[in-house]
Amino acid sequence: MSDTIFHKIMRREIPADVVYEDEHLIAFRDIAPQAPVHVLFVPRVDIASMNDLQASQAEVVGRLVVAAAAYAKREGFAEDGYRVVINCNEDAGQTVFQLHLHLLAGAPLGRFGTP
Ligand code: AMP
Repeated sequence: MSDTIFHKIMRREIPADVVYEDEHLIAFRDIAPQAPVHVLFVPRVDIASMNDLQASQAEVVGRLVVAAAAYAKREGFAEDGYRVVINCNEDAGQTVFQLHLHLLAGAPLGRFGTP
């Protein structure tokens, strides 16, 4: 198994504010939130980045998206709206090399890509 900070969170070696988990993934609040709601959805299977994702692993991303949408509905902000982001490698600013989906919500987020 890889040994990123997210793997340590999954193994409960370091604390995190976990909001959801199942046999496929874990979701916890980002330590440096970029919006009032900022939750990370991380698969349990080792995948460093989107570049390492195999076609046979399409379900892995599907589960992250479905879990994020379900969380938005449960928490009551689905109708207001939200954004999901997956950063890949340097130009996108990926810092943790275990695939993860950011869920951002809780306020108008502005146009994507504008400062
Ligand atoms: P990325 O830039 O897409 O690789 O996103 C990594 C995210 O992980 C950043 O938004 C960090 O704030 C977040 N992060 C790093 N360490 C922790 C941690 N211990 N608990 C929660 N979030 C973290």
